[in-house]
Amino acid sequence: MASYVTTFDDADKKVHLAEISTEPPKDVTRESAGLQFSQFGAELFELQDLLWGARTHSVLIVLQGMDGAGKDGAIKHVAGYLNPRGVSVTSFGIPTREELEHDFLWRVHQRTPRKGEWTLFNRSHYEDVLVVRVENLIPEAQWKQRYGHIRDFEELLSEHDTIIFKFFLHISRDEQKERLLEREQDEHAAWKLNAGDWKTRQKWDEYRDAYQDAIRRCATPSAPWHIVPADSKWFRNLAIAATIVEKLRPYKKLWQKRLDELGERARAELAAYRAAGGR
Ligand code: ADP
Repeated sequence: MASYVTTFDDADKKVHLAEISTEPPKDVTRESAGLQFSQFGAELFELQDLLWGARTHSVLIVLQGMDGAGKDGAIKHVAGYLNPRGVSVTSFGIPTREELEHDFLWRVHQRTPRKGEWTLFNRSHYEDVLVVRVENLIPEAQWKQRYGHIRDFEELLSEHDTIIFKFFLHISRDEQKERLLEREQDEHAAWKLNAGDWKTRQKWDEYRDAYQDAIRRCATPSAPWHIVPADSKWFRNLAIAATIVEKLRPYKKLWQKRLDELGERARAELAAYRAAGGR
């Protein structure tokens, strides 16, 4: 299957978001996407179950995107297929005083998944080279150093067998406007209204540039970035699920083998217990 996302895993490759479509490929219909999504969902559940038992790896899913890009929706739909046991979601907002009095990765590192578990980040350490840069919260020399820190941090996680997915939910400026306006019309979504979203929207180009740099500078083989066409919610969900399943599928054998070994060991222990007269 052709990939539904554009992947960056090499800092030498330039990132031009304007050249990447925000819309689904023409040959994917909503109906076929729905069917595929439920198949991938079932596979996600199966993979999660194997990993939960095998405990050889952990999975970290980072979701970034402009306001209204659908980070919450993606979490709801993709994580909706997973067993809540062993899954956690962390949203990163404006840092607290305590967080600001530590290095920028301090709060993030505490939330990374342990072996066997999955964690989804709604925003992440990338805010520290995005909003922090665009809003001039710290000097340029300081945020520029962070790309290297982020690469090292992600390499450390990866060496500790964390499988990392970084998704940029790519929406068009027009689609964002429509979604923000829709929220205003929907009485049930009024709680999500935030005048700040409109203010941030004025800086669309600055955020896009910051994203392009962050994606390029932190694109590595062990922690690649995936650009997800996100103007259609149904395609966004499918593309994320497909990317995760395709990356994890090759681990299936390893995880199953580990479970078989654990099973054999447990059987041998039980047999020894019985042989010694245990009841
Ligand atoms: P969301 O917009 O993700 O639904 P919120 O309304 O709580 O959630 O917004 C979180 C806010 O926190 C965003 O405006 C984001 O830019 C900001 N934020 C996140 N991380 C940082 C950071 N490290 N420094 C400054 N602001 C941050």
